Amino acid sequence: EKWWTELQQRRKLFNQLQELRGNVRVFCRCRPPRDSFESCIVDFPDREDTMKRSDGSVPQVITIDGGKTYEFDRVYGPEDSQEAVYDDISPLVTSVLDGYNVCIFAYGQTGSGKTYTMNGERGQMGINHRALEELFQTSREASDRFETSISISMLEIYNENLHDLLNTSGPKLEIKKGSNENFVSNLRCIEVHSVNEVWEVMAIGSRNRSSGATCMNEHSSRSHLVVIINVTRTNLLNGDRVEAKMYMVDLAGSERLSRTNATGDRLKEAQHINKSLSALGDVFSSILSNNSHIPFRNSKLTYLLQPALGGDAKTLMFVNISPSDSDGSETLSSLNFASRVSKAELGAARQNL
Ligand code: ADP
Repeated sequence: EKWWTELQQRRKLFNQLQELRGNVRVFCRCRPPRDSFESCIVDFPDREDTMKRSDGSVPQVITIDGGKTYEFDRVYGPEDSQEAVYDDISPLVTSVLDGYNVCIFAYGQTGSGKTYTMNGERGQMGINHRALEELFQTSREASDRFETSISISMLEIYNENLHDLLNTSGPKLEIKKGSNENFVSNLRCIEVHSVNEVWEVMAIGSRNRSSGATCMNEHSSRSHLVVIINVTRTNLLNGDRVEAKMYMVDLAGSERLSRTNATGDRLKEAQHINKSLSALGDVFSSILSNNSHIPFRNSKLTYLLQPALGGDAKTLMFVNISPSDSDGSETLSSLNFASRVSKAELGAARQNL
């Protein structure tokens, strides 16, 4: 019973934070320098020296080039491990079991650590893997009270087209308006019973993603990868059923292509990425300014994520940045985008849906 009490305590704390700050969190993560020659412009003011707030919390800030300071819900530096990052978001993940839709996405320029954060690398598991492990473990531990079923879909948005990564020869995917929320018609959804099965499914998805691409790295930085985890939980005592989805999104690189270099396919890709990332920013701006109309339909990305960006859904954005001097202007533009998002609260969107 100890784990259950602990889990409830963690959730309670997280929900209190949620009530105070709305449903959108923004965490900033700066990757380590590639080598000792990379000159760094990102600084993490010593948190012990920063003024504590009246509630005892310590502001999470980073400074760029000794000048502009940005504050986020959490700031991670190069020394912060995958485990430490996951520990902070575990309550968000387990809230899916309580029926909340959750969206976790990584925004930033190519090479800033989005894939490292979301997916991870060999021996350094990222959020996707850790989240599924925790969902399975929590379900197992509560199996005398709840029956939980977990299934997974994987899709990619490239040039405003959706591709099912678990069924490459299937019919064309379309986002449709359901009675409760938008859904993707014809999207394959595979039920998984263990972490190993998840790895197998994800490996198929990754293989399918790379098979059509001439250069995998380039391709993956120009498309959005969306992993959807569907959770259904039935209370064995009273038969109550809750369903929720978790969307985990590794966004296309946010860097601007230099106008002179972009022609043909590259230009088309850049325009589509630009359109969908600005649509994402516009959704948060509209939420922030309490607009009656939230422009979810302006891109496939926002239309797809609508169920997890509105109502009582919980959203977490990672803004991934590079510490390098040579990436300075991209870093500033990512941080400015993130500041805009961090001021939005989904609570406002709820009344407008
Ligand atoms: P993106 O997905 O944004 O293009 P990647 O996740 O591929 O970027 O990261 C670029 C490189 O930086 C990779 O080699 C990755 O291993 C490394 N990297 C990124 N973030 C971290 C981190 N927090 N700790 C260690 N290495 C990192």
